[in-house]
Amino acid sequence: MAVTSALAINHHDYPHTPNPVFDNSPTFQMACRQLDAVAEVIDIDRGVLQRMSLPKRAIVVSIPVRMDDGRTEVFTGYRVQHSLTSGPSKGGLRYHPSVDLGEVAALAMWMSWKCGLMNLPFGGAKGGIGVDPAQLSRGENERLTRRFTEEVLSVIGPRMDVMAPDLGTDEQTMAWIMDTYSMKIGYACPEIVTGKPVELGGCIGRREATGRGVTYCILEAMKELNLRPAETTAVVQGFGNVGSVVCQELAKNGIKIVAVGDRYGSIRNLKGIDIAALTRHVAEGNLLKDFPGAEPIAPPELLLTPCTVLVPAALERVIHKDNAKKLRCRILAEGANGPTTPEADEMLNDSGIFMIPDVLCNAGGVTVSYFEWVQDIQQFLWTEEEINQRLRELMLRAFHQVRSLACERHLSMRTAALSLGVQKVAKEKLRRGLYP
Ligand code: GLU
Repeated sequence: MAVTSALAINHHDYPHTPNPVFDNSPTFQMACRQLDAVAEVIDIDRGVLQRMSLPKRAIVVSIPVRMDDGRTEVFTGYRVQHSLTSGPSKGGLRYHPSVDLGEVAALAMWMSWKCGLMNLPFGGAKGGIGVDPAQLSRGENERLTRRFTEEVLSVIGPRMDVMAPDLGTDEQTMAWIMDTYSMKIGYACPEIVTGKPVELGGCIGRREATGRGVTYCILEAMKELNLRPAETTAVVQGFGNVGSVVCQELAKNGIKIVAVGDRYGSIRNLKGIDIAALTRHVAEGNLLKDFPGAEPIAPPELLLTPCTVLVPAALERVIHKDNAKKLRCRILAEGANGPTTPEADEMLNDSGIFMIPDVLCNAGGVTVSYFEWVQDIQQFLWTEEEINQRLRELMLRAFHQVRSLACERHLSMRTAALSLGVQKVAKEKLRRGLYP
């Protein structure tokens, strides 16, 4: 068949296929609205668009766990695979009390666009368990993780779906998943997860990768705006794996961090927070909000603190219609997934704020996950320099592709970034065709 006819575009109207399972979730609605905005500006086959507006597969599992006091508690876990068109689906596993199926489905869709934008041979996935990991002992956390792995065993695999850390999970979580999977198949299989400890086949620099990628984007945006790092300030929401590394990397580049917050509280010091001291304070088991080198502020004030760069690096939908107009930053760098609602997005589009959207800004994590997976499969390790240099190269390439498309077509940075990601997946779906 001629290529042109195989790729012929079908332009029927595009109403979303209503879906009672996902449609009530505000986060999933948000992901669908973003996809609609993309569909308005690029040519996509309508059938493909309909397929891409829902996940390929979503599974909900009950996870019974024997608690330390002898009781049994049952948690709910999710794994959603949005697309397996480009390769195995890829995405994090989050432990948080507010996790639900719609949120995980939205996050899985965003992973597809992120992998598409970065040109990685992966589809998007996400998983989660509705639990507060801070309330679990280490043993409870291990039993929860291993039982969850067992429950989703039939839909994961190094060529099918590869998990990684996300909110509330870490290298140790990945080590338990890797061990459970390896015990089941009878041999060590490091490529079943990424973001695992280096001694188990993890990649040097994976833990820092998301924060480093965010920093590369911020420094590049500063160049575009003729801002000198030494004269700039930053505010960071979140001090976990992403936020803490962003603070350290920005501070290394001479940028003054004036306010930081996490789920327990926020602090500010307009002279600049000593990030090395704050990192030590938190590592010693203290709460960020009790750091003596800064004053506490009310959490809603954090995002409104005047600064050059604002980095939301925690949860979704923290920038919304009620606070969007009050932001006082030059650059908004989305370290978190989905921190800005579509209503806030519209308000920010005319505000002059330079937006670095999540699918671009935080793509460093999955990019180094890809490096980790490739090294595990080939059993051939790269040096730290190779990893960091390739990460920087891929981040900057994507940054400039997005920037050029946004300028050429007069699109927002978000619509440009999503368009590139969506278009790659759409083209692959069209080429592969619909089976049967
Ligand atoms: N959880 C990260 C994200 O949202 C990384 C996923 C991965 O490395 O697979 O991008």
